[in-house]
Amino acid sequence: MTAPGGHAIVIGAGIAGLLAARVLADTFERVTIVERDELDAKETVRRGVPQAWHLHGLLDRGRRIMEDLYPGFTEQAVSDGATVAEVLIGTRWYVGGSRLAAGSTGLTSVIATRSLLETLLRRRTLRLRGIELLTRTAAQGLVGDAQRVRAVTVLGPAGTQTLAADLIIDAGGRGSRITRWLTEIGAEAPEEERLDVDLGYASRFFRHRPGQLGGQASVIVSTGANGRGGGAVRVEGDRWHVTLAGMLGDHPPVDDQGFRDYAASLSAPDIHAIIVGSEPLGDAVPYRFRTAVRRRFDHQSSPPAGLVVLGDALCAFNPLYAQGMTVAALQAAALRECLAAGAADLPARYYAAAADALTVAWQLAAGSDLRHPGVEGRRTLRTRLTNVFVTRVQRVAHHDPRVARTFLRVAHLVDPPAALTAPGTLRRILLS
Ligand SMILES: Cc1cc2nc3c(=O)[nH]c(=O)nc-3n(C[C@H](O)[C@H](O)[C@H](O)COP(=O)(O)OP(=O)(O)OC[C@H]3O[C@@H](n4cnc5c(N)ncnc54)[C@H](O)[C@@H]3O)c2cc1C
Repeated sequence: MTAPGGHAIVIGAGIAGLLAARVLADTFERVTIVERDELDAKETVRRGVPQAWHLHGLLDRGRRIMEDLYPGFTEQAVSDGATVAEVLIGTRWYVGGSRLAAGSTGLTSVIATRSLLETLLRRRTLRLRGIELLTRTAAQGLVGDAQRVRAVTVLGPAGTQTLAADLIIDAGGRGSRITRWLTEIGAEAPEEERLDVDLGYASRFFRHRPGQLGGQASVIVSTGANGRGGGAVRVEGDRWHVTLAGMLGDHPPVDDQGFRDYAASLSAPDIHAIIVGSEPLGDAVPYRFRTAVRRRFDHQSSPPAGLVVLGDALCAFNPLYAQGMTVAALQAAALRECLAAGAADLPARYYAAAADALTVAWQLAAGSDLRHPGVEGRRTLRTRLTNVFVTRVQRVAHHDPRVARTFLRVAHLVDPPAALTAPGTLRRILLS
């Protein structure tokens, strides 16, 4: 193997940045993570990741990659307070207004706040040899040209500095300035695909009481025809983390009565029952997500050497489908494979490998979004046929545990969408 270089810098200590640093530590002597926020050991919501106030489901594909990168990850999450459940046995899923048939899926849900997951990943990553974390340090721009990025300028407690590196990873999240930074050094900005969903979230914690939800650990109500949905998951500290969500400007209110009424308007009663039956802990917190954005570095003929963009900075998904952390993990796995094959042409090879994973997730999410007539976007014949098929799949999954299993394994990015058209499954779907 050709060693890619001696020093790598990662911008951002979020989920994507930590996973990238973990992977880089295998091949780089030194990995410096620069993070704008102050970080402490406590699992609190910090300024740089306001989305941590809201329910973060970890798809099983993401959990499996984390387990591979950090052996014992699932067990450690449990000892930190997470709940583990077999999907469709320990959790309830309502899709298209009805509950999916319960049964074994072979999928494991690690149920915890995003802060717990991030704190765990940070602890494990910082233990690795050669990793350094600079907190209260904000990346402000790149140094280089259209051919190569050589350094990043940062502002931290020691003032402004230029940090040189063989490889720089932008994992600065959906607020990343990468497009502007590239333009400033004369490099080509990527094309963007955008899908406006104008999604609103409101989340609140409640005290969990024994026996609620029949002893199950979570309930997810997918957005129904009215564009409203939500989830209630039992997280660390014996709390329910409840998130309500509405698309296209129909956002959940944060006042007591408004929050309750919105929950009552969902297509299943379970979340409302939890809210009215539990003591609230703190106020409800809102979040607005207007647009899903995918930056097409994979369309560039020669992206600059020395720079790789990963996580939400590369593709920020509609959060309703809980894909962001898992897709960040898939990108980290793609980066790992590309690094193992050497340094030559790394960014182009990485963007091509990451695009495979991103395209599946993006199409699943965009396809679901475009089922809502109010979402603007091109509906090709293929999109429309797929949506008719998915509606049929969901209907059958309400009474057929085998179809429910396949449907969720695809949604968890464990099996490819083609699993739904495998002969045995297709027959069940069409003839049921
Ligand atoms: C409301 C909401 C709900 C979500 N729910 C889910 C879910 O259920 N499941 C799921 O998998 N995903 C979910 N996501 C997505 C998930 O949060 C992200 O996809 C995932 O965390 C990967 O993000 P990231 O690490 O790229 O960015 P982030 O998690 O946003 O981290 C970026 C980091 O970079 C730092 N930073 C930013 N700029 C700079 C700079 N200039 N210099 C230094 N540091 C900088 C920030 O402080 C932060 O620490 C949700 C997102 C939102 C908005």
